[in-house]
Amino acid sequence: MNLTNYSEIQALLARHGFRFSKSLGQNFLIADWVPRQLAEAAEVDRDTGVLEIGPGLGCLTAQLSERAGKVLAIELDRTLRPVLAETLEGRENVELLFGDVLKQDIPALVAEHLAPLRPVVCANLPYNVTSPVLSALLHAGCFETVTVMVQREVAKRLCAEAGAPDYGAFGILVQWLSEPEILFEVPPSCFVPQPKVTSAIIRLRRRAVPPAPVRDEELLFRLVRAAFNQRRKTLPNALAAGLGVSRQQAETAVQNAGFDTRIRGESVDVVGFAKISDELSKILSADL
Ligand code: SAM
Repeated sequence: MNLTNYSEIQALLARHGFRFSKSLGQNFLIADWVPRQLAEAAEVDRDTGVLEIGPGLGCLTAQLSERAGKVLAIELDRTLRPVLAETLEGRENVELLFGDVLKQDIPALVAEHLAPLRPVVCANLPYNVTSPVLSALLHAGCFETVTVMVQREVAKRLCAEAGAPDYGAFGILVQWLSEPEILFEVPPSCFVPQPKVTSAIIRLRRRAVPPAPVRDEELLFRLVRAAFNQRRKTLPNALAAGLGVSRQQAETAVQNAGFDTRIRGESVDVVGFAKISDELSKILSADL
């Protein structure tokens, strides 16, 4: 059956008595070019093992299955089990797992279900959990690429550079761990039910090495979060408030990294944050 044909989908869902769940971010694709181009953008071939989050009715899963060595698809909504059993019947290289992707040990899952294939992620993400899912996928450190559909505003935030109004902590984390690229946009008319906003496909290519050497990556991530928690404050004030260091320590770190102490986090780029983090790390270890 055509998994993006609206009347076929309606008949399928009626047969299974399925109801859309808004809280699970269920906006299913009904335009066949989107799952096809999304699968193509993920650069999948027979040596690739794909992790898909939220297969829904299986339209993207089917496209991935045509191209990949294996697809592991994790779906939270167990009422989709009989639907997916029907729509993906006979696809030997698809494995379905029912559960919450946020509760999985992702590296263990990849080792158990996708090795020795080259692991990548491809998904139309549930919008309500985009940030925690992307964060978990990037921190897992095992995917060469993560190619996903997200809200266009989120996609822009992830690619925003220092000084841009939508530059923020999550974008810096993503840019630290990967090189993000917006590939194309998808209008609301391509989904049922229709979301209110435009979506975009984004590909995050894992960095082999970080943009700059850093002594303590954990400190860097905490520092960036602190900088944007109180983004109207000067950076030393925001760091003192958010990291539990003294204002003097924060000011010295910012100054030693080559910045004016009146600077705000929104105008410091990723490499600048790494320098400040290293200076603070030196100060903190000297004070021990
Ligand atoms: N892939 C389908 C498509 O493109 O038409 C459905 C995409 S829909 C935007 C998101 C899917 O993710 C839904 O099927 C939803 O039930 C599932 N989902 C939501 N939260 C999830 C979670 N925490 N773990 C796994 N799947 C989840």
